[in-house]
Amino acid sequence: MAINIILLGPPGAGKGTQARRLIEERGLVQLSTGDMLREARSSGTEMGQRVAEVMDRGELVTDDIVIGLIREKLGQGGEGFIFDGFPRTLPQADALQALMAEIGQRIDAVIEMRVDDAALVSRISGRFTCGNCGEVYHDVTKPTKRPGVCDVCGSADLRRRADDNEESLRTRLMEYYKKTSPLIGYYHCKGNLTPVDGLAEIDEVAAEIAGVLDRVRDRGFSPA
Ligand SMILES: [Zn+2]
Repeated sequence: MAINIILLGPPGAGKGTQARRLIEERGLVQLSTGDMLREARSSGTEMGQRVAEVMDRGELVTDDIVIGLIREKLGQGGEGFIFDGFPRTLPQADALQALMAEIGQRIDAVIEMRVDDAALVSRISGRFTCGNCGEVYHDVTKPTKRPGVCDVCGSADLRRRADDNEESLRTRLMEYYKKTSPLIGYYHCKGNLTPVDGLAEIDEVAAEIAGVLDRVRDRGFSPA
């Protein structure tokens, strides 16, 4: 049985990390809006042409177009899908709900990755990675043993993302609270929202999410 899930949570809550595990361990396919648009553009299909026209005019791609792309993807079957970056607003959630009903599929689980703002700010603003091997470090919780040198590969190419600073993170957080966090109430009412502690260890969070998916699979049905 295919399982479709949405990962909800503020920037930095670890959605990407958990999505990668679900792809590796469960064979789920990630539906990232950005990837879908890029793919559509180069596909040459009718939908792809529409996307290219809109983007070339410098306009924003409408919800209708994104829903159209999702419809194409869901029709391809597989183990299930992880929605990433969509829905981001209530109208988008309604549009997705309508699409799912129309094609006889459903959102089986919505995982809310809960994090405390202050903890998030300290987690993100101290973060840096090795440009050579990808190891992730943190000023406070995981500094390098030798300053400026990667523990794993010895590279001195340590990098910080330009938007990993407190001011930029607070802006992204406010955007999330304004536009996306109402989805928590929306899916709570639908009965398929499960909160997990996004600040727990990566393995613990993964185990919690695995538990949710196993329950969905065993039940074979969830209210949507
Ligand atoms: Zn390294």
